[in-house]
Amino acid sequence: MNRSDFPLLANNPKLVYLDSSATSIKPQVVIDAEQNYYANFGVNIHRGVYALSVQATDAYEAVREQVKNFIHARSTKEIIFTKGTTEGLNLVAASYGAQFHPGDVILVTEMEHHANIVPWQKVCADRGTILRWIPVTQKGDLDLSNIDELVQGVKLVAVTQMSNVLGVVNDIKMLAEKAHAVGAKILVDGAQSVAHLPIDVQDLDCDFLVFSAHKMLGPTGVGVLYVKEEILKTMEPYQRGGDMILEVTKDSATWNEPPYKFEAGTPNIAGVIGFGAALKYLTDFGMENVWKHEQELSKYGIEQLRTISDIHILSAAAESPRGAIFAFELTGVHPHDVGSILDEQGICIRAGHHCAMPLHKKFGFVATTRASGYLYTTKDDIDALVVGLKKVQEMFR
Ligand code: PMP
Repeated sequence: MNRSDFPLLANNPKLVYLDSSATSIKPQVVIDAEQNYYANFGVNIHRGVYALSVQATDAYEAVREQVKNFIHARSTKEIIFTKGTTEGLNLVAASYGAQFHPGDVILVTEMEHHANIVPWQKVCADRGTILRWIPVTQKGDLDLSNIDELVQGVKLVAVTQMSNVLGVVNDIKMLAEKAHAVGAKILVDGAQSVAHLPIDVQDLDCDFLVFSAHKMLGPTGVGVLYVKEEILKTMEPYQRGGDMILEVTKDSATWNEPPYKFEAGTPNIAGVIGFGAALKYLTDFGMENVWKHEQELSKYGIEQLRTISDIHILSAAAESPRGAIFAFELTGVHPHDVGSILDEQGICIRAGHHCAMPLHKKFGFVATTRASGYLYTTKDDIDALVVGLKKVQEMFR
């Protein structure tokens, strides 16, 4: 990996970008792929009979094949393009959620992003289902001591594979076994994990997986929903409109086959094609290497942050494997002040609840500061953060 592959870094040589959990920055190849589509074959897909439309359709569908291979799905029929993780979750909640009955239980965890909480709260309000929570320990791991009790009566386990605050990676394979043993399905929020570690949906045996292109070097406004084909066949469309129909009369309509049944309207064609370039970049680099780099950064980051006095790192003692995400509190300094002072030094971090208010409440914080890295992040970036944080403390002394 070459940092010069990333124009945002090359154009801002002093920038210390530590906000990759919010979004990754993009390599030139991704920008070029989008531009190439618009410049050379930027027309609509699926419906056209002319050569350019066929070219655009082929380029778009080739990315579906790439995604299938990237996550080891069985078929491209299982790959639905969305506009992101949030849309994927809302799609499942609206469509699969319509199959739930009063008293059915949806099991989530205390470390979920709001996007994997709020859609289920709506299902509960509409259908009388019940939301149950897997707790998080003070160390920052899932508390699975009562998992056999917690899964009783559950219809769906909806769990993040990698927390966007704690950085911990949950044991999805084990949770899938527990879910399936009681006849439940398991949905995995892969917004963070798919970007950072190798994923094999068949090995994990998850029923649903959602993720966003923009967190893995791709464009914003593109995401993926993976659903096992046999489940997809039972689901009603999420949105209705062009491209997802077979036949329409004045009174009724029939649906196209999955995945098209779930892709109403003109999608983000350029974004999907850009995402293809991102997937190629990651595949060439090797997801094993991304994950190895992350774990090294994670270890180094925790060690270095611990050299700061009066810091509380949320998951420093977590036992789960963890990526390079560090949420912390500098005693007596508001995270927004930390963020502003770091910004003056060219360091980009995030301050707030990171869309995980229940988790922050659990740890007794309203907000934290979060630094997060990716394959282009270096130990120098971490060192700059530590120097920056020490300056913040000096200013508040
Ligand atoms: N889940 C997790 C774990 C996330 O980190 C995020 C993004 N912060 C989301 C869901 C939502 O992703 P998006 O905003 O791309 O829809």
